[in-house]
Amino acid sequence: MINKSKIILVLYLSFCFFACKQNSNPINEGQVTIVSTTGMIADMIKNIVKEKAIVSSLMGPGVDPHLYKATQGDLKLLQAADLIVYNGLHLEGKMTEILENLSNIKNVEAISNHITQDSILSDPQHPSSPDPHIWFDVKLWSSAIDGILPVLINLDTSQKEYFTSNALAYKKTLHNLDAEVKSTLESIPHEQRILITAHDAFKYYGHAYNIEVRGLQGISTLSEFGLKDRVDLVDFIVKRKIHAVFVESSVSQKNIMAIVEGCKQKGHNIIIGDSLFSDAMGAENTPEGSYIGMVRSNTHSIVNGLTNKKE
Ligand SMILES: [Zn+2]
Repeated sequence: MINKSKIILVLYLSFCFFACKQNSNPINEGQVTIVSTTGMIADMIKNIVKEKAIVSSLMGPGVDPHLYKATQGDLKLLQAADLIVYNGLHLEGKMTEILENLSNIKNVEAISNHITQDSILSDPQHPSSPDPHIWFDVKLWSSAIDGILPVLINLDTSQKEYFTSNALAYKKTLHNLDAEVKSTLESIPHEQRILITAHDAFKYYGHAYNIEVRGLQGISTLSEFGLKDRVDLVDFIVKRKIHAVFVESSVSQKNIMAIVEGCKQKGHNIIIGDSLFSDAMGAENTPEGSYIGMVRSNTHSIVNGLTNKKE
């Protein structure tokens, strides 16, 4: 059977394509527009193109990309964009069809195609599912700049030198950030290097910075977890004498509260560390509203939570 919603979507996109061609937005006249899905991607691109393009992201602070569905407004933005950049590896699980359809008529890039494919981690429970949270290994994230830079230069070849120089400067800043994360985490004793979060967003972080990570939910907030997962995690926390668990800004706190309660019932009190920015950056115009600020904030929250013992 032909998928009716797919036909409607294609018709809608085609309509927008011609409508936008005939009536391009006068505000953006002559300016290159780039639309990303997540804030982390927009932040990387802004650091390269600076004032030479209009860069926006669909998903703001606190938005969970695993569950996000594009709105009518998003479709208009995507349709009007000169370039669309998304994360890929099924992060934007509910936008797959839209992005696929747009890629037939527009310039659409997955940032995950620009990192070494050998570096992509998989879900231990489902080895065929890639882990999309690649931005938490700062070095790996930075390596995507080399791939995305030629795409940006293609949009505006007159800015080749400017974009290249900005990209180099940003890569250097990220190199320093990577070193800063490593040295900041050194204060956590080896046996306390266990990060427990609501969903498994921090595997790349753990892999890059030598921290064991466990999430109550799998690599996507779409995945289900049962009573057994909860009991297992509580047992793990009690057995390993873990003192802190973490909530995430883009995931409901309800599940992690159930873990805290489960531990309490076993006579083991744990604290809830500061909220981590997992799949979305913080509010605009705050330090956490940038990729660098987000990584820095998480690192400090992790150090504070894992080194402050509360018996
Ligand atoms: Zn996630």
